[in-house]
Amino acid sequence: MIPAAFDYERAGSVDEAVELLGRDEEARLLAGGHSLLPLMRLRFARPSLLIDIGRLDELRFVRDDGDRIAIGALSRHADLARDPVLAGQCAVLSLAAGQIGDPQVRHRGTIGGSVAHADPASDLGTVLLTLDAELIARGPDGERTIPASSFFTGPFDTALERQEVLTEIRVPKGAHGTYLKFARRAQDWATVGVAAVRVDGRVQVGLTSMGATPLRATAVEEAVAGGASPGDAAARATEGVSPRGDAAASPEYRAHLARVLVRRALEQL
Ligand code: FAD
Repeated sequence: MIPAAFDYERAGSVDEAVELLGRDEEARLLAGGHSLLPLMRLRFARPSLLIDIGRLDELRFVRDDGDRIAIGALSRHADLARDPVLAGQCAVLSLAAGQIGDPQVRHRGTIGGSVAHADPASDLGTVLLTLDAELIARGPDGERTIPASSFFTGPFDTALERQEVLTEIRVPKGAHGTYLKFARRAQDWATVGVAAVRVDGRVQVGLTSMGATPLRATAVEEAVAGGASPGDAAARATEGVSPRGDAAASPEYRAHLARVLVRRALEQL
């Protein structure tokens, strides 16, 4: 399919992107294009103006920032997968990024595009929610910080305002953990994904593809804090979740996968 006609502007700075977003209600930012362009080709998205931020190198970085690691929104999945700062201080994010799609997707797709797109099946949103990450957005009124716990508001929906650009993501240092993903083929989205991390002595667990947004498995976290074994804690992985059925899996199969993957992830911590 061929997308509907659109205008194209390349933003030279974040401020210019914000200003361009203000000019046209139907404008959309373009980062790696690996979610937006397929939607346009299917005509599920018909932006009248594409604002290309893909070459804003100021948003492509990973740096040690005191007690946190700061990640530019235009960092690509492949950047995260091999970043030495993340490998030492927050390897779970590298591990998840390295499991996204195939090499082509990982070399074009960005962390900012992934979380702004907010596909409930995407991997990085779950990891950021599990890490209690902070997301920094810049709009016409300046910058604000959005906790990951309030960022994902629904399937393909976030707390970002129409004229805001996601610029940076901050994750805690010293978070040790794992991300396990079950997919039908190597390059597929997660049928179910599980992130489990230990941060400041606490165990935090998140789920992919088990509801309309990335979810925290709070019943599992409570069980672990109360001294439950990985098996007993994992038995509570489906409390409060509502997995959908589709061509990849029934809701019951997703629930089974979640319990198995949570147990395995907890055993690895
Ligand atoms: P784009 O497509 O450029 O943009 C996506 C959306 O985010 C658009 O609405 C855009 O306006 C908005 N946006 C982009 N950047 C910003 C910003 N800085 N601030 C505000 N809004 C912004 N993902 C997974 O998690 N796991 C997988 O296994 C997986 N497999 C894939 C396989 C294939 C074949 C493909 C094509 C994609 C796959 N993806 C997967 C999705 C991939 O990770 C995308 O690259 C990612 O979701 C979107 O990033 P992008 O930079 O390409 O964003």
